[in-house]
Amino acid sequence: MNTGDGLGICARAGIPLEDMEFWQFHPTGVAGAGVLITEGVRGEGGILLNANGERFMERYAPTVKDLASRDVVSRAMAMEIYEGRGCGKNKDHVLLKIDHIGAEKIMEKLPGIREISIQFAGIDPIKDPIPVVPTTHYMMGGIPTNYHGEVIVPKGDEYESVVKGLYAAGECACASVHGANRLGTNSLLDLVVFGKAAGDSMIDFIRAQEGWKALPENAGQLTAQRLDRLDNQTDGENVDELRRDLQRSVQLHAGVFRTDEILSKGVKEIMEIAERVKRTEIKDKSKVWNTARIEALELDNLIEVAKATLVSAEARKESRGAHASDDHPERDDENWMKHTLYHSLSNTLSYKPVHTKPLTVDYIEPAKRVY
Ligand SMILES: Cc1cc2nc3c(=O)[nH]c(=O)nc-3n(C[C@H](O)[C@H](O)[C@H](O)COP(=O)(O)OP(=O)(O)OC[C@H]3O[C@@H](n4cnc5c(N)ncnc54)[C@H](O)[C@@H]3O)c2cc1C
Repeated sequence: MNTGDGLGICARAGIPLEDMEFWQFHPTGVAGAGVLITEGVRGEGGILLNANGERFMERYAPTVKDLASRDVVSRAMAMEIYEGRGCGKNKDHVLLKIDHIGAEKIMEKLPGIREISIQFAGIDPIKDPIPVVPTTHYMMGGIPTNYHGEVIVPKGDEYESVVKGLYAAGECACASVHGANRLGTNSLLDLVVFGKAAGDSMIDFIRAQEGWKALPENAGQLTAQRLDRLDNQTDGENVDELRRDLQRSVQLHAGVFRTDEILSKGVKEIMEIAERVKRTEIKDKSKVWNTARIEALELDNLIEVAKATLVSAEARKESRGAHASDDHPERDDENWMKHTLYHSLSNTLSYKPVHTKPLTVDYIEPAKRVY
């Protein structure tokens, strides 16, 4: 999932990617390293502090404070940093303090976290607070599927036409069971439930076949062309540099803090990067175990994910779940309770309605999330 291979394959084959504006940020990654500090730390009594030593979550979520949901805590941290109350010489992180819960409890309940802090931040949390910053954690969007794990695309008047024989499950898929914001632990549940559903669907599909359609004559042509282009490219772009540019741009423009201006700058920049990705060059042309070639091909996938994210996010003029826009702070169900579909080949968006009729339980009206 790290390089979005499944999404890239589908996007290039003309399958739109769904709800890619919704990315979950985990509030507490070790600053500079991104390694995760579990929510359990705050569950055990850890608190977040800004540069003034203030427990700022009291202002953003007066009741649950540091235990508010991931997006709320991440946004609060981003606001503190944005408004100049970040810690360290670059004022680019906040602090997670746990020394007050005592060395004994830390050693008993959070030994792994202590180890991570020492290794990645050079900090022993028994004595000092851990520098933390929100880090990307989960993609709510992905390859559109129904609850059988079958990939679905809009076709004519139909929003959910099944692509026969193509399945997706797990984080790369969007069965949309998490809506715009996944709650903790539900990803693993999603993998098991929809992984099994996809497996069952595959068995049914195979059993129902009476014969197999022949592959079109040019079935491998696109793939061969991509490899040829890479092997013959001269005077091209360096893969590492381009990946760093892509990372920096997405981090800057599609992070926790979003405005119309930031997002439209991001769309422009990512489209420029996408043009450069078409001209990557590798010096090592060997055919066996060539990691340079793999990295170049992975970059083709990463750029699909980045384009889908930025174009979808820039268009959504509201705040919903993990997509929070400072210019449009309210959720707007009237205009925006709909799924985004990003079509990479035409660089366009379309939308489809949200299912509001559960199969076996009563419908629950969406309500405002308050703390
Ligand atoms: C730090 C962290 C903590 C988390 N904690 C939790 C938690 O507590 N509870 C929870 O529910 N969720 C958690 N999540 C989310 C959850 O772990 C992931 O959503 C889940 O593991 C994704 O599983 P997956 O099988 O869909 O994808 P992956 O685990 O990414 O598996 C994809 C597999 O496909 C393989 N692959 C990729 N490309 C190719 C290719 N081109 N060809 C062949 N194979 C390929 C990869 O090698 C990999 O084995 C956490 C995520 C992170 C990052």
